[in-house]
Amino acid sequence: MDILKRIGAIFYPPRCIFCSRVVHYNETCCPDCKARLPQGSEPFFPEENSCLSGCCAPFFYKGVVRERLISFKSVRHRELGHAFALLAAPGVKAALGETRPLVCCVPNFEPEQRRVYNPARVFGRALAKELGLPFEGALLIQTRKKQAQHMLSARERLHNVEDLFAVALPELSEGRDILLCDDIITTGATLNACAKALLQAGAHRVFGAGCARSGQSANLHDGEKSG
Ligand SMILES: [Zn+2]
Repeated sequence: MDILKRIGAIFYPPRCIFCSRVVHYNETCCPDCKARLPQGSEPFFPEENSCLSGCCAPFFYKGVVRERLISFKSVRHRELGHAFALLAAPGVKAALGETRPLVCCVPNFEPEQRRVYNPARVFGRALAKELGLPFEGALLIQTRKKQAQHMLSARERLHNVEDLFAVALPELSEGRDILLCDDIITTGATLNACAKALLQAGAHRVFGAGCARSGQSANLHDGEKSG
């Protein structure tokens, strides 16, 4: 597989997803971007964390990271989900240690969920592959339509996701550690609501992972051009 990747890279050199510079065949981000992007890889607990045993995301949601994630979500650039999974994998691996969870994702509300584009599923599947972990995209279901979370206050977000999720395959999650994936982690209300459903269905612990998290970067070189 590796040799095919190398040969492919001769004809179609891989490029940095942030600045388009040609990169090593196994990379998705150039060293310059790695150094200047809003790194958020330290494990964290979101505001709404009562059901989560910790979360990981490689970046803060700002600057060029935000631009690429908008492409991933709205323009359906699936390859960006794979690239973010590669970038997230080392931090998630370090946070999990010896834990080998089942990977799942925040679901869409659609009658036939598997056929509808869900960036959280694209990211989760790619992250599971990268970490050599099992993935089940249909573990959770969303039971009704919800209002877009970004339009709501923190309190309204919580209310909006209350009892919104259910475990469709409890036999898979019972007694197991779960790695729950979403594209962007904001207050964590959605992740927490999913984690609550998983714990009620008998899961052991639930960890969260995303492409990026909202909040402030501790890194001065936060990806925005400084004046
Ligand atoms: Zn770059």
